[in-house]
Amino acid sequence: MPQFDYPCPDCRATNSLHDADCEFEGTPWPEVEKAYTDIVARLTAAPTEESELYDAVDGEWGALHRAALERLKRDERVTEGNDVLRLRTSEEFREEVSEPTREPMRTIYRNGSVPGCHDNAVFAMIAWYEMVGLSWSETRENVIEWLRDSGAWARGGFEEPSPEALVDAKRHVYEAGYGWKEKAEAAKRVIDRHRG
Ligand SMILES: [Zn+2]
Repeated sequence: MPQFDYPCPDCRATNSLHDADCEFEGTPWPEVEKAYTDIVARLTAAPTEESELYDAVDGEWGALHRAALERLKRDERVTEGNDVLRLRTSEEFREEVSEPTREPMRTIYRNGSVPGCHDNAVFAMIAWYEMVGLSWSETRENVIEWLRDSGAWARGGFEEPSPEALVDAKRHVYEAGYGWKEKAEAAKRVIDRHRG
């Protein structure tokens, strides 16, 4: 199945298997990619106000462009300050995303996993780093560090003898490029109960 560089703006699929309720199910991929490249090309040239972006695309600024821009913002590829949109450099992006700032990842990152959600939390962390474009070795390093620094490892409940062994045993999650959202939401629920 062909894979695409940009995720579906609605469900984040990178192949034709959209979520059941996805707004863009059936939209031809060249159209999806064009919406992204229109925006990225304009922002690569220079930071710009959002309204100027509408004029920069050839053809109509429609639902797909709107959704693609939202996705770029939500995924922190594009930042907004004083009404000006700016594309993050890839270096800046990788630095920025190594600390998840939005829910449900924020809770998992800050509080660490607790017994009862280890599988989901570690899965989500790996899948999330994969999604934001970190290499396997960067992902591995970040997740191992997170297991130690968040206190998750010290809480116990893992079968593996070390954080390294645990993360290595989950490499398939990275390779398969699974989505992080459902696992992350499930893990956050357990962590919230644990804290509550
Ligand atoms: Zn979709």
